Amino acid sequence: MMRDPGRTPNGQLRRGRRAGTLAGVAAASAAVALAGCASNPATGKSQLNFYSEAQEIEMGRQADAEIVQQLGLVDDPELQAYVSRLGGELAARSERPGLPWSFKVIDDPVVNAFALPGGYIYVTRGILAHMGSEAELASVLGHEIGHVTAQHSLNQISKQQVAMGGLLVGAILSPEVAQGAQAVQAGLGLLFLKYGRDDERQADDLGLRYLTKGGWEAREMPKMFTLLEGTSQLAGAGRLPNWLATHPDPAARRVRAEQLIAERKYPSGEVGAASLLDRLDGVIFGHDPREGYFVGSTFYHPGLAFQLEMPAGWRAVNEKQRLIAVHPDKVAQIELRHAAAATPEAAAEAFLAQQGVTRISSRKARIHGLSAVRADFSLASQRAISGRATFVALGERVFQLVGLVYSDRAVVAAQAFESTLGSFRTLKDRQRLAVAPQKVRVVELAAPMSWNEFARRHPSDADPRQLALMNHVSDPEAPLPAGTRLKWIEGKKAGEQTAGMPPAN
Ligand SMILES: [Zn+2]
Repeated sequence: MMRDPGRTPNGQLRRGRRAGTLAGVAAASAAVALAGCASNPATGKSQLNFYSEAQEIEMGRQADAEIVQQLGLVDDPELQAYVSRLGGELAARSERPGLPWSFKVIDDPVVNAFALPGGYIYVTRGILAHMGSEAELASVLGHEIGHVTAQHSLNQISKQQVAMGGLLVGAILSPEVAQGAQAVQAGLGLLFLKYGRDDERQADDLGLRYLTKGGWEAREMPKMFTLLEGTSQLAGAGRLPNWLATHPDPAARRVRAEQLIAERKYPSGEVGAASLLDRLDGVIFGHDPREGYFVGSTFYHPGLAFQLEMPAGWRAVNEKQRLIAVHPDKVAQIELRHAAAATPEAAAEAFLAQQGVTRISSRKARIHGLSAVRADFSLASQRAISGRATFVALGERVFQLVGLVYSDRAVVAAQAFESTLGSFRTLKDRQRLAVAPQKVRVVELAAPMSWNEFARRHPSDADPRQLALMNHVSDPEAPLPAGTRLKWIEGKKAGEQTAGMPPAN
């Protein structure tokens, strides 16, 4: 769980929060349903578009504020300025230079990049750490700019509104989808628009256009697809990075880009390996354990100084805004998040006053010396849901721990609710409090050596396959000249971001 949102968090049930967002989108679409067919700025072709440019920008602006608040930006002004400048140079060469373009680095270790309508573009620190050159990064940004200039998302938004509605209700009332709910939680459905194959192809073409117009090296673009292929293989059974989930078939895209580049015979351009690597040195790598980590089923949050015991065998995931655990049969869940109240009493009252929530009982309690309120309630839904919650004060903050279970299966969660809700306590272990994140370091070879030799001389706690991927190593035995700069991961990995096995579907 999360950074500290301070005194302005929204501690409502997710229902309230999501409904607000969805209502906003629905209102926007109702208001603009009167527009009509317009020509696509990037292609000049006529296409159906319900939105004026002002509405498009406003939609992006609102979503941008939510993304920045929920996902958070990397606290590195130089890195932000660098990506912003690079993106701005590309966007200035696009068909829509007048949009309020913005380029931000999101504090997320997953390999991901995405765009919102109106020119709001994001790359994660995860994808940055895997980039080998400025031109490669420019091809990622160019692709996302292409989605905006060709207005792909506007088209998708209306198509997905119904689906988002379904997901929304599901994510709140039915624990089955809790494991997939990260997509909903992470800002907006807007982020996870799936574009069609044609849209992806067009965004690749537009990206290549902006890249070459700006004088960057076109041959760096296929490396982006190689990286996506490799990341996809590494992800294996694990969590699929979002960009891969929404951008299938990197191999075919690589082949196509290589063909285009060969046919068009672009003059050689700027690669910019050094300028990128300079900025990547010191960037946080992987999950930041200061925002919480698991050791077995125990969760530690050094940043907020608490610990918690999750039910053994449940799948638990530390997300930005919450910690969520799901029963193996997906009939129950426990969620921890900030409550937007000054006291446990106020938090409990606000929670129990929500529409659809019926109070059964509530009482003051103390949990490991912390003042708290415990409550039992039921939740209106097609299949009845029983709930148990604990609101607990730790320092200036109030946390809410909410267990939900289908009433007809309540017995399976009784013990877990009791032990987990009662396990919240102050984290005092100095070693656990002092964890530090891993970081990217850029190392220059003093003498020629192969990748394998480098890896032997620089042992790292990071997955060697991922390190090789980050360095675009194609032949690990090939000699690299002295002066070659390679990325290396410094520091030890502290704990995991998940506990328990993913439920079998
Ligand atoms: Zn795309």
